[in-house]
Amino acid sequence: MIDVEFRITAERREGLLLELGRIVMNCGYTLLRPRTAHTDEGVLLTLAVRGPERNLSTLSERLSAHPLAQSFESSMLGGKAIAPPVAPVQKPRQAARADDAYIREVEALLPELARHFPKVLPLVVGFEREISPEYLDEASRYAGTRLGAWMFKRDYALGARMNLADSVKQIALPAMRSLRSCELVDGTLVVKDSPFCGTGLHHGTSCHFLRGCLEGLLNEPGHLGKVDVEETACRNLGAARCTFTFTPVD
Ligand SMILES: [Zn+2]
Repeated sequence: MIDVEFRITAERREGLLLELGRIVMNCGYTLLRPRTAHTDEGVLLTLAVRGPERNLSTLSERLSAHPLAQSFESSMLGGKAIAPPVAPVQKPRQAARADDAYIREVEALLPELARHFPKVLPLVVGFEREISPEYLDEASRYAGTRLGAWMFKRDYALGARMNLADSVKQIALPAMRSLRSCELVDGTLVVKDSPFCGTGLHHGTSCHFLRGCLEGLLNEPGHLGKVDVEETACRNLGAARCTFTFTPVD
């Protein structure tokens, strides 16, 4: 048995201890004394834990890879530093925007989406009705990228690495089909009856959430580089169907 202390910074406190505490227990460790403190960066969670040394690297990896964790350090209790089983991570701040007001609203929506998955689109349409028109498009797209990344991690993260065309076919298409009927036509994704059209909430293209989902699904794996997703035709603008194209950036 060893005693280890983890210091994890996160942007928000809600659910943090619960989720990380679950990881600690699943790795056979006991939580000795969790402490949280507010810092300029957000929240600093200090977790003192005790458990079997053989599981330490698994525990460290899972804690540092958690989506809420932005930076991660560990040390042996008693002051002796231990080599981190994984390099300390400093993740880019997902919410580093001046107008991050909607980020909190999206974060509050995400657990609902996970709970009702795959029947999430009515929830998102409801979300669009509630949110300020000022950042509606961006908020909806951001919520989509988060759900897309979540779907990728949930269902596709263990699959083989594929090029963009195959990723669209094998990952983006089946994932989007779980949300709404759609098909691939000459490499573009076509959605016949997007529920985001004709709601009166959007003046231009309206399917920002679906675009975000595709961005999340294709950008989460990392090896494709940055994939640009555009909605090139939208029922909200009079087209027969909504059409999404995929372009690798650089
Ligand atoms: Zn559309």
